[in-house]
Amino acid sequence: MPVYKEVSELPHCGSCGKLVSVGGIRVERLGHTLVFCTERCIQVFDTYKVPKYGEAALWQESIVR
Ligand SMILES: [Zn+2]
Repeated sequence: MPVYKEVSELPHCGSCGKLVSVGGIRVERLGHTLVFCTERCIQVFDTYKVPKYGEAALWQESIVR
């Protein structure tokens, strides 16, 4: 029997905030493992969010623990 995680434990895309239930792309950023739904979202994070917000661009919901 597979064990499913509670929805609240699933990570959200670090860029658009969408729930990433299956797949998702994990990348190391700012010392954390973050999850994103698409390459495009990683691009937005790197080229827009981080330069603009710095550390504040990190969402707790997208950090993989
Ligand atoms: Zn996304």
